Amino acid sequence: MPRLAVIGFPVGHSRSPAMQNAALAALGLDDWSYEAIEVGPEDFVAKVGGMAEAGFAGANVTIPHKEAALALAGVSSEAARQIGAANTLTFGGAELGHDGGRDAGDGIAADNTDAGGLLAALPTTPLDAHALVLGAGGAARAAVWALVGEGARVDVWNRTASRAEALCAQLGGKPAAAPVQAGYDLIVNTTAVGLGGEDPFEVLPLDAAGFVAGQLVVDMVYGEGSTALLGAAAAAGATTIDGLEILVRQGALSLRIWTGLEPPLDVMRSAIA
Ligand code: NAP
Repeated sequence: MPRLAVIGFPVGHSRSPAMQNAALAALGLDDWSYEAIEVGPEDFVAKVGGMAEAGFAGANVTIPHKEAALALAGVSSEAARQIGAANTLTFGGAELGHDGGRDAGDGIAADNTDAGGLLAALPTTPLDAHALVLGAGGAARAAVWALVGEGARVDVWNRTASRAEALCAQLGGKPAAAPVQAGYDLIVNTTAVGLGGEDPFEVLPLDAAGFVAGQLVVDMVYGEGSTALLGAAAAAGATTIDGLEILVRQGALSLRIWTGLEPPLDVMRSAIA
């Protein structure tokens, strides 16, 4: 009975168990299960170290453990290494009952599906697109790495400007202190703004009336319903992608790593709608 999990602190709000259990059932993997495990930073390494023996085939990792997850893995993907964080761990040695997933040998393999998940959610390749990434945390690092790698011209704005500068020095992109909103083909909000009910137009360098038709606007934040940022973008005729779609896409890539099977995207979307 292979087990999967999302590990975080806190993790009670996570929609991954509902989404992944629905996907496992739709794939006919009835003996698999996916659970949420809350572990603090001091216990993370010990907890993960015992997971293969406890029957876990893999785990998603979320705040605040993504850097620690990369550090403890014996094998890691190029994306995880360059981004400096892993959101997907695969455990070797578990009895998986399938033969299609990633081979982690006897150890722990780390991947980052936040980057590929963002790209998978975009309707077209961002090649040559002028992109603005808001934020300089873990989600921003994945977004910038993904977009730069696909040939986009990426500007990065962050509340703490020095973090945007450090991110760009490492991953590419250009720090932007005062980005001109209408000039971008693609705007990706990776800040946590909106989660706590803040007004994004007060704290981000964006105007509610400043979006233009033809833009693509992504908000990684998800809660109940759409965000104020996406509402304003849609009203201007921009195409919008919400945080739930990003969640589905990164989760789908993780599921494919673990099972080798093609994830049922619509089932996953419905499970968290
Ligand atoms: P993080 O590493 O803690 O980074 C947080 C970012 O938000 C930093 O750039 C921070 O700026 C900025 N920020 C926080 N509060 C702000 C405020 N009041 N005004 C302006 N900027 C503010 O977090 P993360 O891992 O990157 O995650 C960021 C968000 O993306 C979270 O909401 C998370 O849930 C979401 N996310 C969603 C998915 C998905 O699948 N949909 C995946 C990953 C992340 P400073 O540097 O100035 O502090």
